[in-house]
Amino acid sequence: MTASTAIGLTYFVASLLFIFGLRSLGSPRTARSGMHLAELGMVLAIAGTLLNHQIVSFDWILAGMAVGSLAGVAIALWTPMTAMPQRTALSHAFGALAAALVGVAHYLEHGETLATAQLVALGFEVMFGSLTVTGSLMAFGKLQEWLPGRPLTFRGQNVVNVGLFLLIAALAIFVIVVPAQREAFFAMVGLATVFGVMLVLPIGAADMPVVIALLNSYAGLAASATGFALHNDILIIAGALDGASGLILSILMCRAMNRSITNVLFGAFGKAPEKGVQLGAGLTYRSASPEEAASILDTAERVIVVPGYGMAVSQAQHAVKKLADLLSRKGVDVRFAVHPVAGRMPGHMNVLLAEAGVEYDKLFDMEQINDDFPRTDVVLVIGANDVVNPAAKSNPQSPIYGMPVLDVDRARSVMVLKRSMNPGFAGIDNELFYKPNTMMVFGDATKTVEALLTGLKELTPAGELARAQPA
Ligand code: NAP
Repeated sequence: MTASTAIGLTYFVASLLFIFGLRSLGSPRTARSGMHLAELGMVLAIAGTLLNHQIVSFDWILAGMAVGSLAGVAIALWTPMTAMPQRTALSHAFGALAAALVGVAHYLEHGETLATAQLVALGFEVMFGSLTVTGSLMAFGKLQEWLPGRPLTFRGQNVVNVGLFLLIAALAIFVIVVPAQREAFFAMVGLATVFGVMLVLPIGAADMPVVIALLNSYAGLAASATGFALHNDILIIAGALDGASGLILSILMCRAMNRSITNVLFGAFGKAPEKGVQLGAGLTYRSASPEEAASILDTAERVIVVPGYGMAVSQAQHAVKKLADLLSRKGVDVRFAVHPVAGRMPGHMNVLLAEAGVEYDKLFDMEQINDDFPRTDVVLVIGANDVVNPAAKSNPQSPIYGMPVLDVDRARSVMVLKRSMNPGFAGIDNELFYKPNTMMVFGDATKTVEALLTGLKELTPAGELARAQPA
């Protein structure tokens, strides 16, 4: 078998593994094996690339692999789940930087001899790569709170941005027509990096996950264009898969928040709370101790748990699983309602609950469970806020008006476990907390759930508790 046949074959198998891996990510049941398939695909893609006869020395490649692997392992081990969106933004920045640098090197080496089609691909690669690097770094900075999270806007910003984009596109066309114009090429690279910053500046931290999915898409497009410029099939395929899945993900997130992509990109959402959405003054809420809450829970027959970002912050999923197990063994029907944008990234809650061992058949999507709330005795809202805010249904003044939410307020009784009356991600008050059938149980989610568990055990007669203990 020749080296080029072996490369073609490994690329083919790697592409299949990427496609099946992505397919498996669609369900929490198969997501883990999907990740392993994609990892295997990446190993094969790298191995195939190393067979390329154009490689003259492996020294730098091996050094790069060692540094990259060490950094990857360190990032994987030490990044907390709550910092996953900014970690993703950082890896997009690295991926896009690689694509942009390869493009610049390719241009410097072969720029004047490249065919027009290759120059077009190279132009795309460098343009998307450069703007994704700075855009992703901005997204990282905002989410890590190194930069202000609020949208930074100025008069005529959209006009400036559109003008800048047109200038970059004009320079790219000029370089394609006159490839020897290095000044124009580097001006395009420089302006694209500025454009990345300008694109993300007016977007608030609240919309960053959508922006990150979009930047993911751009990084994929840059990689795909790199594949066309270098005649590398696996880059074309993997880049296209990355580009398409990033775009689909951002559309799904926008749909779950009832927003359009243009509203996310140009709407400066989260800039200042709209008039009429700050509640609190004159309103009262009911707070309860974990012991009181446990006694109410003790009489419930149907319970729905609604996890949110606070469960992730507190890492309360293991305590929540223990509580759900005890309730189930006492004969209570316990289910979990998972909102599509609960937490800070798609699938955030599913990952945490699966990690704690919650059975998949206990997890319900919003559409599956929303009609069941009126028949539910107690809803346990654990660190969730925006995704249960009824203002999204009833208050046209609210910035989240129109976002589909869990109909928690229709349940007989609601217990909200959070630390204070502070707002959630969207920065707005939640009228659910002031409803007569809602009680606030203040404290860190893990501690409160553990206190509920203790309270419930104390209320359960010894004989029944023994029957309720795991074998
Ligand atoms: P949320 O609205 O951000 O509210 C989380 C709540 O958790 C806060 O009100 C906070 O209140 C509480 N909390 C924080 N730490 C806690 C702790 N240690 N113990 C107990 N409670 C704690 O969360 P959400 O309801 O999950 O909504 C998600 C938000 O993210 C939505 O606005 C959504 O649009 C946005 N978003 C999500 C995605 C995604 O893909 N998932 C993408 C884009 C945007 P205290 O500070 O008072 O404790």
